[in-house]
Amino acid sequence: MHGLMMDMPLTITSIMRHADTVHRDSEIVSVTADNLQHRYSYGDAFRRVRQLANALAKSGLVMGDRIATLAWNDYRHFELYYAVSCAGQVCHTVNPRLFPEQIEYILNHAEDRWVFLDPMFVPLMEQMQNRLPSVEGFVVLTSQQNMPSHNLRNCHNYESFIGAQADIFEWPDLHENDASSLCYTSGTTGNPKGVLYSHRSTVLHSLVGALPDVMNLSVDDVVMPIVPMFHVNAWGTAYSAPMIGSKLVLPGAKMADGETLVRLINAEKVNYSLGVPTIWLALVNYLELSGETVKSLKTVVVGGSAVPLSLMQALEKHGIWANVAWGMTEMSPLGSYNYQTADMRRSTRQQIDQIRIKAGRNVFGVEMKIVDQNDQSLPRDGQSSGLLKVRGPWVCSGYYRAEEPTAVDTDGWFDTGDMASIDGQGMLTITDRVKDVIKSGGEWISSIDIENAVMAHPHVGEAAVIGIAHEQWTERPLLVIVPADGATPDEDAILAFLKGKIASWWIPDACILVDNIPHTATGKISKKDLREQFKDFTPS
Ligand code: AMP
Repeated sequence: MHGLMMDMPLTITSIMRHADTVHRDSEIVSVTADNLQHRYSYGDAFRRVRQLANALAKSGLVMGDRIATLAWNDYRHFELYYAVSCAGQVCHTVNPRLFPEQIEYILNHAEDRWVFLDPMFVPLMEQMQNRLPSVEGFVVLTSQQNMPSHNLRNCHNYESFIGAQADIFEWPDLHENDASSLCYTSGTTGNPKGVLYSHRSTVLHSLVGALPDVMNLSVDDVVMPIVPMFHVNAWGTAYSAPMIGSKLVLPGAKMADGETLVRLINAEKVNYSLGVPTIWLALVNYLELSGETVKSLKTVVVGGSAVPLSLMQALEKHGIWANVAWGMTEMSPLGSYNYQTADMRRSTRQQIDQIRIKAGRNVFGVEMKIVDQNDQSLPRDGQSSGLLKVRGPWVCSGYYRAEEPTAVDTDGWFDTGDMASIDGQGMLTITDRVKDVIKSGGEWISSIDIENAVMAHPHVGEAAVIGIAHEQWTERPLLVIVPADGATPDEDAILAFLKGKIASWWIPDACILVDNIPHTATGKISKKDLREQFKDFTPS
């Protein structure tokens, strides 16, 4: 028997309509190349979104077409999110930090028809344009006045592109499973793979992301996503904030710039922010060097890679509580969130610290299990570590125009490629990426645990642990560190510091100081490159 409730599709258009009527006056403040503090309301934004939708239609774009963005977190990118998806096209956010060959591959693989780009990326597109057969035109995200000189074919400035258009648009009736946006994984092995989100997956993900024991968003919050809008939709904040009516602060290209972040936090009274550990390290360093404060900022989400306790403690010294989240591009990205429960608040400080560094519990909508090499479920005892599998309505079921089989098994579980344990309370601990696991004498060593422990040493700025070949033990851990600003660490003292903090046989065979550790385009440590760099290393 069917229920008798209205069959209203869950679409991004519904988020837009709601924000445009109920939260018209909530603000969006952005940093762009042409304006350091652009300010307008959701009402203003959605008026321009309708103008943009008309401009897209006049350019011949139709339902299902892919439109690429190479852009930072700012109001014009926000307008593209809504105009493109709500008009039935696919907003393809491209990570400008990828290698040019990867960007070219991605634009061609997606067969994007138009590219909207920040002025900063004009030279990149100029070099590439003749190798992008599907791209018909370019729109630079700026005004006529600030348009850089260029030799791009069929190229417009954004303000003129939308300026003459009517601000009334008949939004099409979309099916909730229609594609809304596309994001390619950074692809540390093989070609990048496209994750194609739907309207339904986006709405459900945004709704759960805003819940009290997740981001706990309200209309009174001021949210600054320092996670890029070009990578997994800024963790959904560009949808959750309008859904709830929170004010959005978008830091443009200045995402790792402590000074800009502090200025924005204080000027706009940002109380909630999201970022990867590197961003928070930059903020803490800036606060410590400048002596400035960020009194309004109370809570941040940190995820995207392992989160050292020392970083959370450093943030706490400045009055900021960090909550760990875990997820991935293929999961929109939210999988789990570590929120403070009343029980936790009643625990001792040491117990709180032991719990808060974990990746949290799976949110409603995401199911998780860990399995052994034979795909048999492992117990949730906090000890057994296995391959983490997930499923849910915002987990990808296959890659866009995939050339290889997807990571979804016949029972519908997605293989995350992460190794993890889950305890009796459902708390997830990520121990490693499967491909980064170090196997020593038949036992696994968690590189993440060693990195988190060593980051507490005041002379360590950044740390990575990789496995190096060893005759007797197959592999042994090698610790690579970048000294903290102005510090000259002693390698033996660093290794001695780890004693008692991790199992004695996990202590790396050597510690090496370097000026830089290689990173991927999404800001994660590239262990693949590190392993290559140290493949011939033998500890003395
Ligand atoms: P991406 O798809 O680029 O966002 O990367 C997703 C991957 O980042 C996950 O599969 C994890 O390996 C890693 N990751 C994300 N959040 C965390 C976290 N809280 N702790 C450890 N690793 C994480």
